[in-house]
Amino acid sequence: AVALLQAGGSAVDAVSLAVERLEQCPLFNAGVGAVLNRDGLPELDAAIARGEDRGTGAVAGVSRVGSPIRLARAVMERSPHVLFSADGAEALARQLGLPMVDPQSFIIPLRLEQLAAAKRSGSIALDHVDDASAAPDAAFGTVGAVARDSRGHLAAATSTGGLTNKLPGRIGDTAVFGAGTFADDGSCALSCTGTGESFIRAAFGQAVHGRMRWGGMSLADACQAALDDVRKLGGTGGCIAIDRDGTICLPFNSGVLFRAWSSADGGAIRTAVWSDSASPQSAPIP
Ligand code: ASP
Repeated sequence: AVALLQAGGSAVDAVSLAVERLEQCPLFNAGVGAVLNRDGLPELDAAIARGEDRGTGAVAGVSRVGSPIRLARAVMERSPHVLFSADGAEALARQLGLPMVDPQSFIIPLRLEQLAAAKRSGSIALDHVDDASAAPDAAFGTVGAVARDSRGHLAAATSTGGLTNKLPGRIGDTAVFGAGTFADDGSCALSCTGTGESFIRAAFGQAVHGRMRWGGMSLADACQAALDDVRKLGGTGGCIAIDRDGTICLPFNSGVLFRAWSSADGGAIRTAVWSDSASPQSAPIP
């Protein structure tokens, strides 16, 4: 995705490519390796947002679509609507000729164990932990990407299995434009992870946008204020965000956030897991 941007590719292409790859990696809570609902099935949500014209596409509760983010992009580019769910979303994927898979192909043993543990404790759980010391054997969360391209356009993409032991039919913030996924060239692009219910109630993406656009706040301050709202609403999590000037911000109030970032100059990719002063909570990336 970094090479694509360096070669002059679009932000939309970069974020779709990054998220599609991460969906295939079993370490994360998206696509292969996604968490399971109460019935032991994956129900996947994904969304993409294009800052240039506020284009967006999202899908919720899909179990048979090989790449939920590809379908979300198809919703944006090839349908008259912006959000599809479950059977209708899968019918659209078939109609558009996207690869379909057996829901079992997403399931890995770790997720069956996590579901059993959540059922024993009666919890509905984030797959990433608040206790940073437990992180090494935990899974690494929802996947997302944000980018600003050489023409100054912004884009965001997010894909997730949601929460372990969630009730069938539950939809999280990922699929909701203006909550867990958002892009507007006038402010920022962002992608969230964390307690979806709280991110929806905080209208996270729209809240960051509004604070920047009409409150004159920086991206970092706007994200921090929105994260404070999420906490007041009982949630934890974080986001990856980039503003119209290319400032990157990766704030979180959970124990860990697995994150990577890069800039146009040389394109070195840096990564971080825990809170780390070298990570751009707010610092502009040259
Ligand atoms: N935000 C996701 C959801 O609530 C879960 C996560 O980020 O792990 O669906």
